[in-house]
Amino acid sequence: GHIAIAIDGPAASGKSTLARLLSEALGLTMVNSGEMYRAVTWKVLKSGVDPSDAEAVAKALEQMDIECGVENRLSTIAIDGVRLGPELRTEEVNRSVSLVSAVPEVREKLVDLQRGFLKFTDLVMEGRDIGTVVFPDTPFKIYVDADADVRAERRVAAGEVDAVHDRDREDSSRKTAPLKVAEGAAVLDTSKHTIESGVDAALEILSE
Ligand code: C5P
Repeated sequence: GHIAIAIDGPAASGKSTLARLLSEALGLTMVNSGEMYRAVTWKVLKSGVDPSDAEAVAKALEQMDIECGVENRLSTIAIDGVRLGPELRTEEVNRSVSLVSAVPEVREKLVDLQRGFLKFTDLVMEGRDIGTVVFPDTPFKIYVDADADVRAERRVAAGEVDAVHDRDREDSSRKTAPLKVAEGAAVLDTSKHTIESGVDAALEILSE
């Protein structure tokens, strides 16, 4: 079978950067599961569906043709034939994605698609529930964290409007697959690291 490295953590913890560099260092496919939740959220908003109406979101989901792929070792996502990218990182999507990702039908559908990647490639997958739900049996799990003020500053520095604390509160308190440290996961605090030393620390964890 294929190997999965699960990277979870709160918003702006540095997990995307770490996951990307790890996947490059190890020659693995990098899958950003947050983009999948963002893509469904983008489509929900675009369709004029109220993101806080779980039933309406589940119904809208049934109509969506979600296509996942890999290009240059990076995951790609298209909905109804529209390949999505920068539009997934807008303030509107940031504000609604925690609501949409709390809908059980959405999670069920996306977890299925996420597991599908492992049928054809070794991968690093980053998200909130990769070690707890998507690949609970993988021996390779890292929970990436960083001080709250460091995380908020990172978003500001990136020029993004993103209430990371609100998202974290919602992501950690939802009933289905809340954000938490997976059993067997090593915790890596990126506030104590440079990018390079964080990658080294992760490689060290994975070799243990
Ligand atoms: O990782 P990113 O911050 O882009 O994720 C956006 C949102 O998608 C999270 O705040 C969370 O609500 C949702 N998400 C999730 N489960 C994942 C990945 C992301 O619920 N595995």
